[in-house]
Amino acid sequence: MSFASLDEFEAYFHSEDICSNYLYQLKWPHGFRCSCCGNTKAYSIMTRRLPLYECSRCKHHHSLTTGTVMEKSRTTLRRWFAAIYLLSRSGSSINAYSLSQLIQVTYKTAWLMLHKLRDALDQPDHHTLLDGVVRVQGGAYGNPFNPYTEKDARRHPLLAAGSLVDFNNVTELRLTIMDTEHINHNGHIRQTGEQLFIARNVSPNAANVQSVRYRLHMSRCRPLVRCIAEFNNWASSSFHGLGRKYLQAYANEFSFRYNMQQHPHMGLARLFHLCTHVKTTVTSRSLLAKYQLPRAS
Ligand SMILES: [Zn+2]
Repeated sequence: MSFASLDEFEAYFHSEDICSNYLYQLKWPHGFRCSCCGNTKAYSIMTRRLPLYECSRCKHHHSLTTGTVMEKSRTTLRRWFAAIYLLSRSGSSINAYSLSQLIQVTYKTAWLMLHKLRDALDQPDHHTLLDGVVRVQGGAYGNPFNPYTEKDARRHPLLAAGSLVDFNNVTELRLTIMDTEHINHNGHIRQTGEQLFIARNVSPNAANVQSVRYRLHMSRCRPLVRCIAEFNNWASSSFHGLGRKYLQAYANEFSFRYNMQQHPHMGLARLFHLCTHVKTTVTSRSLLAKYQLPRAS
């Protein structure tokens, strides 16, 4: 599935029915299956904006959007699909203002949608654990490294991990900004943080895993050091002066875009998969409580 432009995409997904049929296929590729009792027969209830499916055995109602980034959203599927398409396009990023203009929603709605989509990009599932030759590398976002002032409020230590081909090309990337509990008083990443990161991102079956927490260690992984530098440049130029609280969301987006460039035909399908199979941890309420909604500019 590939589309040359938003117009072409919207011409294909031109109605809520087409979008909900597509969502049904993504959610139940082998036909309906009740998550409560495993039954495979359901009655559709078509009186709502989106169809509901009632399990014929236990009578539980299943919504198409339950367990997806669209759960409980009043925004139409067509708009969500267009946002997923726009985020999947490679090239530069999309901000809430442009999204609100392109899909005709309020700035606040666009902002919430982008945050939920970026959160979905960070949800690990069994498809996305790194495998094969894996390297883990410490680095930072923000203030350039200064050996005399390792700890700096404008510097945010991070870990990058990648699956490598020929020990030189990173074909799949992960970036995690370290929580302060995993940084010691010198500004170095603690081993506990490194272990957690590896458990979350690297397959236990990966054959060859090496990790270097220090940026200037002689056995540092240069391809990952380059990825970290690219992330710094991209984030600084796209989102001028990112604060700590937004960094992880943008690190997720950067990794997603990077990985998509390695597998361009996979981007849209992969994003659809993530958005429909991995329940996001954020809700509109939690987002608005955590971040102050920025003004549109
Ligand atoms: Zn059931």
